[in-house]
Amino acid sequence: MDREKLLEGKKLAARINQIVKNEVLDFQKAFSFAPVLCAIQVGDDKESSLYLEFQQKIAKKLSIGYKVKKLDADIQRVDLIAVIEELNCDSTINGIILQLPLPDHLKANDIRICLDPLKDVEGVHPENLGKIILNEDGLAPCTACAVMELLDNININLYGKEAVIVGHSAIVGKPLAAMLLNDFCTTTICHIATSERGLLAEHVKRAEILVVAVGKPGVVKGEWIKKDAIVIDVGINYVDDKIVGDVEFEKAYERAAYITPVPGGVGPITVALLMRNLLKAAKQQKQEGK
Ligand code: NAD
Repeated sequence: MDREKLLEGKKLAARINQIVKNEVLDFQKAFSFAPVLCAIQVGDDKESSLYLEFQQKIAKKLSIGYKVKKLDADIQRVDLIAVIEELNCDSTINGIILQLPLPDHLKANDIRICLDPLKDVEGVHPENLGKIILNEDGLAPCTACAVMELLDNININLYGKEAVIVGHSAIVGKPLAAMLLNDFCTTTICHIATSERGLLAEHVKRAEILVVAVGKPGVVKGEWIKKDAIVIDVGINYVDDKIVGDVEFEKAYERAAYITPVPGGVGPITVALLMRNLLKAAKQQKQEGK
């Protein structure tokens, strides 16, 4: 396998982590404390607990403080919002993560809007999402940023490129479309209805840059990949105890100029950028005297 072709997230994440680690030390020297992240977990979803453990491990490596607020699955909306408001006002907490999934009686959007945008390190508050549309600096969603970092890392000129995103979620597909548009890609977003009309292959075949964030293994066939395309597979699927992406990897690998492995592609960068967002948030809070 040609290593140059593989967009390995682990290496890039390690570089970002090193920069963040150094800057955390500088921050600590300047303000006599290290930034602190607080994750809120409602209920005890197994995958979400694994993700928390991973975040905690990286935070420790970077000398970042990490706290978890575990709340009962039957917590009422008003009580969850009270917890968030308390964290918003707590000057010892610099970033807040609302871990998903939430139990069915709670709606993520309804809760996210209560986060202080300055502590919203996942970039899910409407104010932060809106800033992407306006091409203004803010705290942007880490997975969408991870895709942009991967593209930046291979020095690709995005101007006028045909970019196709499969998946239109509010934290990956939609903000990423806005980011690619800000860089003058001709950007198409596909979703379930595109597939249901039988048009997915046609769109994917045009893509010079293809990003897939669906959560269905093999939803994009290898033979659809345009020769020399850049393929970024965000999907995480568990198949027979193995983690695979959304793109048929072997066939896509043959056709692509660059392709992310799953696991080890977008995932590690997402967590590295979460920590970078935390540092940015902590600096901004200091600037604003909070
Ligand atoms: P989501 O579950 O909110 O939305 C899925 C999207 O896929 C929707 O736009 C839907 O219309 C589309 N879709 C569903 N079936 C389709 C089909 N047959 N053809 C075309 N489009 C279809 O998505 P999400 O939260 O953005 O997550 C997507 C995937 O990315 C999941 O596997 C998730 O685990 C993974 N993910 C990975 C990271 C990471 O850091 N690597 C971060 C976030 C999400």
